[in-house]
Amino acid sequence: MSDPLIDPEHAQFVESVRRFVDSEIIPHATSWDLEERYPQQLLREFGNLGWLGVSVPESYGGSGGGSVLYALLCAELARGSAAIALGFYVHTALASSALVHLGDEAQRKRWLPGAMSGERIGCWAYAEPNAGADVSTVATTAARDGDQYVLNGTKMYITNSPFADFMVVVAATHPELGLKGLSVFVVDADTPGVNVAAPLKKLGMGASEMAEIVFDDCRIPAENRLGPEEAGFIRSLKVLTLGRIASAAFGVGLSRAALQESQNYCAQRVQFGAPLTANQFIRFTLADMATRLEAAWQLTLHTARLADAGQPHDREASMAKLFATETATWACERTLHLCGAQGYMKDSAAQRFYRDCKVLEIGEGTSEIQRETIARQLGV
Ligand SMILES: Cc1cc2nc3c(=O)[nH]c(=O)nc-3n(C[C@H](O)[C@H](O)[C@H](O)COP(=O)(O)OP(=O)(O)OC[C@H]3O[C@@H](n4cnc5c(N)ncnc54)[C@H](O)[C@@H]3O)c2cc1C
Repeated sequence: MSDPLIDPEHAQFVESVRRFVDSEIIPHATSWDLEERYPQQLLREFGNLGWLGVSVPESYGGSGGGSVLYALLCAELARGSAAIALGFYVHTALASSALVHLGDEAQRKRWLPGAMSGERIGCWAYAEPNAGADVSTVATTAARDGDQYVLNGTKMYITNSPFADFMVVVAATHPELGLKGLSVFVVDADTPGVNVAAPLKKLGMGASEMAEIVFDDCRIPAENRLGPEEAGFIRSLKVLTLGRIASAAFGVGLSRAALQESQNYCAQRVQFGAPLTANQFIRFTLADMATRLEAAWQLTLHTARLADAGQPHDREASMAKLFATETATWACERTLHLCGAQGYMKDSAAQRFYRDCKVLEIGEGTSEIQRETIARQLGV
């Protein structure tokens, strides 16, 4: 989908990403999904292409492309493979963004260059067996002991953790303070006391890898704490809005892929003596898909532009994430339906989209959490 209002430099960038996605990702997306492995060399290649530093300011060695460019990139990657986009987003919008926004100068110098080159891949470890939508229930502790912290606890569903080099971990420094007692730490994956279990089996996003991490008396230097000891995590929730913009862009990318798949199938499939696209029901479904997709994209782009202009965008980020991800779920279900039995086969793209889309409504704040945020801003 071209957008005449996009900056010409951005349009040129998107064109090069599109070519890469068409030639290097789409042809392999289904086999990576079925093999359930993340092609890690792609992340290193993204580093060579400068994509891992797109959202990092130039002053920290990134390209300073900002949220709009990041959203354009995420939408294109998700059009090729939502699972590849997921691994990219966890590394950039969560792990690297935490370094940018919560870290001090020394911490950025220490960890950002490797993260941007793709030499060192990051993960974001917040969720736990008993901490999901309710962020105040994190039970992993980080107890101060001289110039170290000692981490104990279990993180669950952590994307990229099976191959991550560093982990950005949310842990309680003052458990009695609940949400206000949570802090954020960088942990090198080879630190003694870090135990990453075997990758978990999932419904979708087959090509992304996630696992449980157990911290067992894991000692890290005190200088690995990002931001203040108290309310460090609250600060991260305020500054890491890029994650919601990325999730919205994933919804857009996946919906684009679904619309294209529906169009291709319905145009070539002949039933009752004519292509399926001769039926008004099919034509109207495709028209509805295109309309909802455009609305989702404009909401995402609007939020990214507000972010780049330094304007408040918390409400818009929740709206974009909510609308674009629910649009993707709807569009992917319709695509599976329109592609009939062929779409239901394990090697079809339609069934992959159908399995991949749902998690976009669950991660990065569920749809209910986004509705809560929006309602709060309405003053109700
Ligand atoms: C593929 C995948 C990748 C992931 N990657 C990561 C990762 O890299 N790092 C990480 O930290 N986590 C990751 N997660 C976990 C993710 O953070 C959690 O799934 C998310 O926080 C939601 O928590 P939960 O799944 O435990 O849902 P629960 O908290 O158990 O909620 C279940 C349902 O109840 C609803 N609900 C809960 N409270 C309310 C309420 N007050 N009002 C109305 N509805 C409510 C929720 O919206 C949801 O629909 C991943 C999950 C998946 C599936």
